[in-house]
Amino acid sequence: MEFLTPGAKVKCMSFLEFRQKVKAKEILVKPGVLLPFFDYVITNNDREVVAILGGRVEGDSLLICEMYLCKRSTGTRVNVEINPEDMIDAQSSFSKGNYTVGWAHGHLGYGVFMSGTDIATQTDYQAIFPDSVALVVDPFHEGNLGFGFFRIRSKKAYKMDYRFLV
Ligand SMILES: [Zn+2]
Repeated sequence: MEFLTPGAKVKCMSFLEFRQKVKAKEILVKPGVLLPFFDYVITNNDREVVAILGGRVEGDSLLICEMYLCKRSTGTRVNVEINPEDMIDAQSSFSKGNYTVGWAHGHLGYGVFMSGTDIATQTDYQAIFPDSVALVVDPFHEGNLGFGFFRIRSKKAYKMDYRFLV
């Protein structure tokens, strides 16, 4: 334990610094949460679809516990925009203690990666909530269902490790 000596200067963290700090070191996913989204992406294979991830930071972990399918958000084959009403309804659909921790969208057959638009969107999310993540799902990539969690660092997208909560 450390004690402060009288007169010692204490460096305070500003609210902005606090907000910009990523707290979670790992992602823990409740397995059942992803299944409705896989189903949603596969059954809407003529357009991109989007969902909001709900959960919370607990200690060193970002828990992903819930998912809200944004059924009012319209997309083309390669792009999707989140309807603001979906954002609000997502937040109120989450259980007590959970909040928006990221978003998910589908890439139909063109791979699991973050496009330029995706990087810009995720950068905006991280400016509000630094721990937020982007989930990309491609059910038809080279014959396999693929998905990955991403976060932006120095304008680049990094794939994040995750574990399932069992
Ligand atoms: Zn994308």
